Amino acid sequence: NNHDDSSTRVFRSKLPDLPCIPNHMPLHSYCFQNLSRFSDRPCLVVGSTGTTYSYSQTHLLSRRIAAGLSSLGVSKGDVIMLLLQNCAEFALAFIAASMIGAVTTAANPFCTAGEISKQLTSSKAKIIITQAQYVEKLRPHCVPVITVDDPPEKCMHFSVLLLCQNSIPSVTIDPDDAVALPFSSGTTGLPKGVILTHKSLITSVAQQVDGENPNLYLKQDDVVLCVLPLFHIYSLNSVLLCSLRAGAAVVLMPKFEIRSLLEHIQRYRVTVAAVVPPLVLALAKNPMVGSYDLSSIRVVLSGAAPLGKELEDGLRSRVPQAIFGQGYGMTEAGPVLSMSAAFAKQPLPTKSGSCGSVVRNAELKVIDPDTHHSLGYNQPGEICIRGPQIMKGYLNDAMSTAATIDELGWLHTGDIGYVDHDDEVFIVDRVKELIKFKGFQVPPAELEALLVSHPCIADAAVVPQKDIAAGEVPVAFVVLVTGMEITEEDVKDYIAKQVVFYKKLHKVYFVSSIPKSPSGKILRKDLRAKLPST
Ligand code: AMP
Repeated sequence: NNHDDSSTRVFRSKLPDLPCIPNHMPLHSYCFQNLSRFSDRPCLVVGSTGTTYSYSQTHLLSRRIAAGLSSLGVSKGDVIMLLLQNCAEFALAFIAASMIGAVTTAANPFCTAGEISKQLTSSKAKIIITQAQYVEKLRPHCVPVITVDDPPEKCMHFSVLLLCQNSIPSVTIDPDDAVALPFSSGTTGLPKGVILTHKSLITSVAQQVDGENPNLYLKQDDVVLCVLPLFHIYSLNSVLLCSLRAGAAVVLMPKFEIRSLLEHIQRYRVTVAAVVPPLVLALAKNPMVGSYDLSSIRVVLSGAAPLGKELEDGLRSRVPQAIFGQGYGMTEAGPVLSMSAAFAKQPLPTKSGSCGSVVRNAELKVIDPDTHHSLGYNQPGEICIRGPQIMKGYLNDAMSTAATIDELGWLHTGDIGYVDHDDEVFIVDRVKELIKFKGFQVPPAELEALLVSHPCIADAAVVPQKDIAAGEVPVAFVVLVTGMEITEEDVKDYIAKQVVFYKKLHKVYFVSSIPKSPSGKILRKDLRAKLPST
């Protein structure tokens, strides 16, 4: 029952569909399907030390870790949590979990104990793999903890996973079984577990790198920079999984720091750089860039947040030989909705500001946010996507799932955009609550809940304010309880203590009431209109 009426204008990829996507197998089998072709080639490269795992070593180690996880009691359907900066163990544990039908939920290690605790409770993770420095944040949870470095008291070292002599238990993995559980607030409310299945991720990777005339942004001899955090689905999918499928080498960097980034590009002759707008800003503007040899870069892909034309031009002048393109993603969409086809074998030109055309074997439509009528070329409206790559749903949240994926299978993104006559997608605005600080999610509902838990605060609303460096920053409108007095700094400190750095409030406005609709919804647009324009 997924028939739209005849007036629905469906947009499709500029590239021909793949005749067949092998999404009936488990994700790890798909990623290593062509292993024999590149078994001795580098797969995971630890940037800081140069330690390199070939494809066959990566495969073998993942299998041993799968057996190790299983011997610790992790079985099909169980969730493991990765609380790690980018490292080889992240990739190995993710693949290993897939091999035994387990599910990986990854969290940002910079999150506070409170934030991590919510994800742990909601995902019911059975085991946590982390670094010693983050173990403190995990108390008082009584989940077994494994560290990839020297284990503190009561923790195990990652090597325990390699000691097991047993073979991997045989499990039947269904294409619709979950394999990854990233957390996202979606169009409204608090962060929720997003169920991505083997089928979703295989489809999404295939849409990016498979086929005869692929939207091939990477290939076998590429060296791919993995500086974006693997706990975000953009990096996990478009960097790690796409590289594994294509046979490319992945250069792992634990965090972004401009000098080290430039050193890595030069030292490893990086050919593909997947970035986000703040990194484009650094590459376009930082004077240090001129002292490094960036001539190896063939492709720069930017995603996760809007990119201004000025930055794009700045970047082009720094790496003139590179093809530049944008991808547009959303965790719930698997995550890639559209990607520049400038990287294809027969490249299609992309316009400035364009996010490319919708991925192959998928459908995209644009609807009027109020009437839900389908719109045609060049008419901005809410972007919706349909295809086997989208999430199965939110974990234990049928209501939010139904509010996001309609009965015809369309996932509503909460983004406003249009498709031009060349089938290119442009994102112009966001109707959902979500704030994006340097591509990181800041869910207003989470900050609002924290604000009203303060004894002096009666009501609160959090909205995005435009910011040159971060794209957007969260600012709060706060109503005080009558007779109570607190300062802006008090409010900021109260929040800062409880949240990761990118969710900190940048400004607090004291108001007498929060504008709301008759049904009680915060009129965010009215509040955004009150902010000074930058
Ligand atoms: P996330 O689920 O964290 O990946 O965030 C998804 C949201 O990021 C999308 O729904 C958009 O609002 C925004 N986004 C992602 N890629 C782009 C892009 N290329 N241009 C504009 N916004 C983007």
